Amino acid sequence: MQARVLIVSSEAVPLVKTGGLADVVTALAVSLRRLGIDASILMPGYASAILHPQAPQWTPVALPRSLPGGAARLLQGTMPDTDVPLVLLDTERFRARGANPYLDRDGQEFTDNAICFADLANAALAICAGETSITVPHVVHANDWHAGLIPLLLKTAGLHHIGSMLTIHNLAFQGNYPFSLAPQLGLGGVAAMPQVLAGLEYWGQLSFLKAGITHADCITTVSRSYAAEMLTTRFGYGMEGVLNSRRADLRAIPNGIDSATWDPANDPMTAAPFGIGNWRGKALCKCALQAMFGLLPVDPFMPLLGIGSRMSHQKMADVVLQAMPAILTRHQRLQLVVLGCGERQYEEGFAALMQDFPGRVGVHIGYDEPRAHALHAGSDMLLHASRFEPFGLTPLYAMRYGTIPIASRVGGLSDTINDAVESNGGSGVLFDGENAADIVLAVQRSLGLYHNAAQWRTMQENAMRIDFDWHSAALSYVDAYADIADPQAANAFRRAVRAVPVAAAAALQA
Ligand code: ADP
Repeated sequence: MQARVLIVSSEAVPLVKTGGLADVVTALAVSLRRLGIDASILMPGYASAILHPQAPQWTPVALPRSLPGGAARLLQGTMPDTDVPLVLLDTERFRARGANPYLDRDGQEFTDNAICFADLANAALAICAGETSITVPHVVHANDWHAGLIPLLLKTAGLHHIGSMLTIHNLAFQGNYPFSLAPQLGLGGVAAMPQVLAGLEYWGQLSFLKAGITHADCITTVSRSYAAEMLTTRFGYGMEGVLNSRRADLRAIPNGIDSATWDPANDPMTAAPFGIGNWRGKALCKCALQAMFGLLPVDPFMPLLGIGSRMSHQKMADVVLQAMPAILTRHQRLQLVVLGCGERQYEEGFAALMQDFPGRVGVHIGYDEPRAHALHAGSDMLLHASRFEPFGLTPLYAMRYGTIPIASRVGGLSDTINDAVESNGGSGVLFDGENAADIVLAVQRSLGLYHNAAQWRTMQENAMRIDFDWHSAALSYVDAYADIADPQAANAFRRAVRAVPVAAAAALQA
């Protein structure tokens, strides 16, 4: 018997991406399949996913049960560039979404998000109940609040033989809605049961995330530090109480990165290949980045700082904007490239910064994968400030391209980046604090290191040698799936892990 897991997520590359979650979901599914697990993905059928230029041929699948939002169907295909079976939930509401799946043109959350994601959870339930022609999984792996109702629905439907895992990628997004919506979400009956009510209620609201935390058989998050931080008042976003009550079932499984997509030696989206011992390509990437962002002069000897992230309060966009004029005034040769989008006031702030420092600051507002690759490859340093950071993929991409991260000492960042001073060489610069002066000092310290060419090269090599591949994360997930699956399926999951040394040896001999 092959062990089966259904991964449920609101986004997955290459079809829909607003952040790191999308990268993680597809890379995990691919890695699980390499281990012999039958992993598939269920996600919303946004118009941008159904009509994506790389979209497969879709096969409609009937969904007999009516969802809270009305009638719907499933579309079956394969995730582009992979062998991962993919199911989209096709509803009118999801089809009506524009470029951003969660926010309207004014940056406001769509008013029917609760119904949309209740639909997604009910579609997962229908699959698990064997109501569709899609194979029933042994474990459902729900990601973030969007899939948070699934563990609750499995329990109330009596499907106890199907294991449920909730992975928290970001505790700040919780899916909290007025309780009066419960009947519309199909939760009118269960919400009346006192023991269910307690697990749903969050400061008077109905919380998708809390439902997941309360009812999942296992809860995971994406770094060791964040797993500890989320139990505290500072980082718990009001969920620390319920998380502490589930502490025994909470695990940290650090993410990996897709090292084939982010490979300096072979990246079709960068100007030239490079690697340790072949630095000419990195200089060419830097010049290409300077030209792409209109910086002057185009010169590989100018220090170049990159920022590539959502423009949000979490990413300290407000503080970065306060710090930048002082940094650029103090360090007259420093150039800055910024790629990102998010809250309007920050987008406008970065656009104004470009006006104030013409030729020294280049800004692109928007979501752009080729520019993201060019930025990670061509910058010398990447500034990644965060008030909290569950994992932080971007600094890992940077390190893979010999670009030194300057990052807040929080969450996954403190697990994956070794500070230059504290770890004898190191792979980056970590800083404490949330004030502009903290960022000014961190950039100053980084530029000091940059001007010591030998030390800088050592840091670049350290950074590029770190192995963040998905393999070990996938093994940890399989272990966790085995612990929550029914006994027969648990054996199948464990066999896949045990077979790894054999398969690896066979690959070496081949
Ligand atoms: P988060 O998930 O909190 O946004 P991460 O650093 O973990 O932060 O992941 C962000 C992901 O989104 C990375 O893959 C990064 O390259 C990508 N990204 C963020 N903003 C942009 C953008 N404007 N254009 C292209 N990619 C972006």
